[in-house]
Amino acid sequence: MSSSIAAPGRVKEVTSLANPIIKDIRLLEKKRHRDETGTFLAEGMKLVIDAIENGWDIRTLIYAKAGKGNEQIEALAARCLAKGADILIVSEKVLGAIARRDNPQMVMGVFEQRWTDPASISPDEKDVWVALDRVRDPGNLGTIIRTADAAGAKGIILVGQTTDAFATETVRATMGSVFAVPLARMDEAEFSTFAKNWPGMVAGTHLKGAIDYRKPDYDAGPVLLLMGNEQAGLPDILSEACSILIKIPQAGRADSLNLAIATGICLYEIRRSALTFDGASE
Ligand code: SAM
Repeated sequence: MSSSIAAPGRVKEVTSLANPIIKDIRLLEKKRHRDETGTFLAEGMKLVIDAIENGWDIRTLIYAKAGKGNEQIEALAARCLAKGADILIVSEKVLGAIARRDNPQMVMGVFEQRWTDPASISPDEKDVWVALDRVRDPGNLGTIIRTADAAGAKGIILVGQTTDAFATETVRATMGSVFAVPLARMDEAEFSTFAKNWPGMVAGTHLKGAIDYRKPDYDAGPVLLLMGNEQAGLPDILSEACSILIKIPQAGRADSLNLAIATGICLYEIRRSALTFDGASE
């Protein structure tokens, strides 16, 4: 974590892919390097600003040479510099190599990962948390983080071996919500204990669920919504940790719903009475 009075960072211009700082940033594509450094890459002006507004610690701001003289980018760079981040002004070639795609975003940031300690989760009466069993697909995880943010869930718990919440693809799919939704992780056994101690309903979603997801009274206390793995669904050890198993009724030929869609449907039902409609946004 950076201190509140950070030493200003440094500004460098880089055009070579052989530069060791660039090599290091490019390695953030790999989970192992993200884990070892505790950092990750976020692409785009919106995401970088979202992160900073939400108080996330930035280590490096990277922007295209073409952004020199752009008022918004230079103001962002000054802000990051004052927070102790290094600023890299890079060629198009370097930017494309970091993003690993054509037409990369002009601005990127290397941020410190942030995980919530499960022991600090102490839900209030109206809180909803989402737990995801071994979620595999980065697009699903990113979409669920974004949906949880929109629906006002308090956080997400990743159970077992999951796809990385800080992979570039996941972060991209969250559209910035990764900076707003607390993330915790635990293994199956820890989750079972956590669920047993949960002071409200633990609603597992299951194709064999005996209860229509629209029936329970979700306002009776905090809700922990548990979603199953994309291929296998919930294993017995996790479904047995639930107080109820709910199902979304289906017509047609599909044997199940996509995980992120099912999460959204359940979350919006659980949050129905808490979400008031205040008219169309401008
Ligand atoms: N073959 C898996 C199975 O038998 O459970 C399908 C898994 S489904 C693609 C992934 C997850 O989405 C499920 O574990 C459950 O959490 C949720 N899900 C999908 N369709 C659902 C439905 N109709 N009712 C409740 N949950 C559903």
